Amino acid sequence: MEPQPPVPGSRSPAPPRATSTRLDSYVDRYAARTAGMTASEIRALFAVASRPEVVSLAGGMPNISGLPLDVVGSAIGDLIAHHGPVALQYGSGQGDPRLREQITDVMRLEGIDAHPDDVVVTVGSQQAVDLVTRIFCDPGDVVLCEAPSYVGALGVFKAFQADVVHVEMDADGLVPAALAAAIAAVKASGRTIKFLYTIPNFHNPAGVTMSIARRAEVLDICRREEVLVLEDNPYGLLGFDSEPMRALRADEAEGVVYLGSFSKTFSPGMRVGWALAPHAVREKLVLAQESATLCPPSFSQMAVSAYLTQHDWQGQIKQMREMYRERRDAMIQALEDFMPPACTWNSPRGGFFVWVTLPPGIDAKAMLPRAVTARVAYVPGTAFFADGFGAGSMRLSFCFPTPERIREGVRRLAGVLEQETEL
Ligand code: PMP
Repeated sequence: MEPQPPVPGSRSPAPPRATSTRLDSYVDRYAARTAGMTASEIRALFAVASRPEVVSLAGGMPNISGLPLDVVGSAIGDLIAHHGPVALQYGSGQGDPRLREQITDVMRLEGIDAHPDDVVVTVGSQQAVDLVTRIFCDPGDVVLCEAPSYVGALGVFKAFQADVVHVEMDADGLVPAALAAAIAAVKASGRTIKFLYTIPNFHNPAGVTMSIARRAEVLDICRREEVLVLEDNPYGLLGFDSEPMRALRADEAEGVVYLGSFSKTFSPGMRVGWALAPHAVREKLVLAQESATLCPPSFSQMAVSAYLTQHDWQGQIKQMREMYRERRDAMIQALEDFMPPACTWNSPRGGFFVWVTLPPGIDAKAMLPRAVTARVAYVPGTAFFADGFGAGSMRLSFCFPTPERIREGVRRLAGVLEQETEL
């Protein structure tokens, strides 16, 4: 097969059609955009990492062991008994009106004053990333992302053949000078920036939170340069020591599309997330949602709505925060106790993830098979970059294993690292 021609305006030639194999008789018939659809490094890891003897510090699965299943069960039973014909029917493409109202209550905790008409319910916030990219990005358009960034969003951007330009972040989040420089460089190259994708709170994978001062600076730059901000905030209510941070969207309604999710604060299995967007964008998102799914699932939306009505959901989130804080503490303590000198990491103030930087010369991806042999798994940093960077770093998740397993996992990881540095 001939290599694909470069996408006009993109910075590099289209990659080979990585999804195709000689065994695939459809190889010449797939759309060019499938070239960007490759299995994420995390998915490939799941099979090994889920073996019981392996301590997985790899996956970012929310820990739902504390959810009151009896309450959820009775809310769902009531839902079917009293509203079955609606819950089991198609619904509005924009999402259930009652749930959209409740979503505005959730967002108020982060200083957002929004109208339910501006909310579009999606199948998890993952679908919201997809819909926003679908309505904005043509092949070769630029999406600015933090370095590193969420692997699932990078996958969407790739699938729409957008060019990802990474912007440096530090312990206070996105670096404003680097953002301004990246915008200037992309504009000077004649390409079009469609939006800045940012995860301001308890970043996946970097664990950092954008400071208040940085939020103002990032918004200023984006206003001035007319760059739309896509604020992805699934972890905002999972801070360990403080009230929720004020969302970027709380201070800028026209230039921000905000994404939220019930996956981390209730249940990822419900697959309910949302986008809050300026009116015109909201309209386009609903059209995109209708063509993608007709409507988000009525049953899930009404089940989430019933849970929010019948349960002390804020009390539940508080319990989750305490559980995650205990796990964060266990991970940080274990890192301090076991990791070889020259490794560095941050201590996240919320969320699920710690970002570890390895001693020079160690490649986290190359080391992974040896770590799995030593019965511990992590995600190599390269998964979170669109451009091959990140080999000297890794993401560790503390959300799922018990504190004891976390400690044991870090002990095993430190053992592998020690052997690597001796090689
Ligand atoms: N954004 C970020 C930053 C995430 O970490 C995740 C889940 N890992 C998502 C979006 C997608 O979440 P969901 O579709 O379950 O709402």
